Amino acid sequence: MIPARWLDYLYPPSCHFCDAPLRKGRYLCDACRAKLHPIATPFCLRCGMPFDGALPDHFECHQCRGQDLSFEFARAAYLARDEARELMHSFKYEKQLHLHRDLASLAADAWDDPRLATQTAPPWTLVPVPLHWRRKQWRWFNQAEEIARTLARERNLPLVKALRRVRYTTQQTRLHRRARLENLRGAFRLARRVARRQPLRGKPVLLIDDVFTTGSTANECARVLKAEAGAEKVVVLTVLRG
Ligand SMILES: [Zn+2]
Ligand SMILES: [Zn+2]
Repeated sequence: MIPARWLDYLYPPSCHFCDAPLRKGRYLCDACRAKLHPIATPFCLRCGMPFDGALPDHFECHQCRGQDLSFEFARAAYLARDEARELMHSFKYEKQLHLHRDLASLAADAWDDPRLATQTAPPWTLVPVPLHWRRKQWRWFNQAEEIARTLARERNLPLVKALRRVRYTTQQTRLHRRARLENLRGAFRLARRVARRQPLRGKPVLLIDDVFTTGSTANECARVLKAEAGAEKVVVLTVLRG
């Protein structure tokens, strides 16, 4: 992790979108941030999908109803639209690693959700969704890990790199829901150190990823974290929702 003052030197901070001058490793100005689409109620209490209009309390969407999900619920801070999508694209694919602080700060906006905010004793342990080493080698960083590490430091929460991706899976987007789950079976294992020491046993885990789309990756990670690491519960927090 590069300290903010070095980043300021390496990439003189100005807004990613409007070039307004900024400080302390920030690359998104308040005006441009205000243009993003935060996810606010009403949304599905399981998958975080927002809906228009009035919804009953404890609403679950038709995708989630009757589903046997391994995570308690998934919460994303912003919709993956327009500038938010562009920001994440620059971070992930153009390797603009200096954006990690702004992305973590966007994710932190989901702390408005009392289901996240009230978990304090014990606090959340953050676990990033891992990349396969081959993909990581190509991209040279794991976007989820960078966001999780920044979030952990800023909110003073423990972070455990609990999972490893043992199978290189093809892009999931073209597959149907059932096929996606099958495709991911056995794709994740516990990191050896975590399997040995079991630091997550009985703890509430916040699984961190960049974008939530179908939820099948998160679901498989949550399954492993509960079944093999003994996590008390797993909640998914992402910066964006597709
Ligand atoms: Zn701006
Ligand atoms: Zn749902």
